[in-house]
Amino acid sequence: MHHEALAEREVLMPTYRRWPIRITKGKGSFVWDDEGHRYLDYTSGIAVCNLGHVPDGVKEKLGEALEDLWHCSNLFQIPQQERLARILVKKSCADQAFFCNSGAEANEAAIKLARRYAQKIKNTGTNEIVTFAQSFHGRTLAALSATGQAKFHDGFEPLVPGFRMLPYNDEAALAEVANGRTCAVLLELVQGEGGVIAAEEQWVRTLYDLCRQNDILFMVDEVQTGIGRTGTLFAYEQYGIEPDVITVAKGLGSGFPIGAVLAKAEVAQAFVPGSHGSTFGGNPLAMTAGLATLEAFDRWNVLENVRENGRYLRAGLERLKEAFPETIREVRGKGMLLGIAVRRPPHEIIAAARRHRVLILSAGDDVVRILPPLTTTKDEIDLFLATMHQVFLGE
Ligand SMILES: *Cc1c(COP(=O)(O)O)cnc(C)c1O
Repeated sequence: MHHEALAEREVLMPTYRRWPIRITKGKGSFVWDDEGHRYLDYTSGIAVCNLGHVPDGVKEKLGEALEDLWHCSNLFQIPQQERLARILVKKSCADQAFFCNSGAEANEAAIKLARRYAQKIKNTGTNEIVTFAQSFHGRTLAALSATGQAKFHDGFEPLVPGFRMLPYNDEAALAEVANGRTCAVLLELVQGEGGVIAAEEQWVRTLYDLCRQNDILFMVDEVQTGIGRTGTLFAYEQYGIEPDVITVAKGLGSGFPIGAVLAKAEVAQAFVPGSHGSTFGGNPLAMTAGLATLEAFDRWNVLENVRENGRYLRAGLERLKEAFPETIREVRGKGMLLGIAVRRPPHEIIAAARRHRVLILSAGDDVVRILPPLTTTKDEIDLFLATMHQVFLGE
């Protein structure tokens, strides 16, 4: 096929089933398409634009940073990196940070760190990582191998060895964890892509204690749950645990590509000069976006808004469930990572909402996923709920 025979769109590899909209502008909770239609965006670029689109504060800081320096290799000291790392370790149970560019890369680094810690620091002879059914950890080959959904593996075998999958929220299955081969577990505390499924507190506690008793690293993938999405800066804070390794990405840069691995010093020492790296990771622009994002969190009391308006939104969704029991099976999630399990194909509901100029997502096979900007207001939530009422009425 010669390229001139292809329509403009067709020169992109068909990795996405794209919606028939071209978004050209965004501000706060709203986006506009190239025909000037306004949409309420409760996808937030899949949990990325946590402060809304083009947030004030971050916008100015990035503008200023563009004047100074765009890129600088990690062969040099980068002050913005040190500042962002300092804030992240102060706000978490971790001691050190490594910066990369995406969620998959953060998980990739965590997997490497766990293996190297077992092999070079502890000499345990263990190298398996336990992950869980329905999980999603990213598209690179190791992150994919850690992912607990067969549809993402299809056609990409052989997968990277050394991963073992257990059922999620299943106490009995945890007997498999301490088998003498496991060096780490990796889990989402609320499974996002897998269907908005929160880990049960008691199950997490049992898994955590097992890891502690058997010298197994406890690693959480907070790529979607992190940076305030569930009502605390990290979801693990709500489980009374201190993970050894935390991965974050999506919301950390307000839309600027960024990822990070945070780890306890004891574990982080497994990386030495040359062990791991990234050309772009930690570049001054990404670090500026991260710093400005976290500053805005404090200045705007974002976490409080997630908790209060998250409850308000959830109460509204529960009322919708009561009004439409034949369609809505369950409302679930934490903070502003919410899902409604439905008895109809989610894509039908999502398409109908789009016609009403409200953007939402799916998760798993039967869940409509709602990811508002963490700054969303009660008025916007009222607009959302009124629109969804019409959508469920079939209007
Ligand atoms: C989105 C996501 C990833 C992958 O992040 P990318 O930036 O797309 O590589 C990994 N883990 C979780 C939990 C995610 O939601």
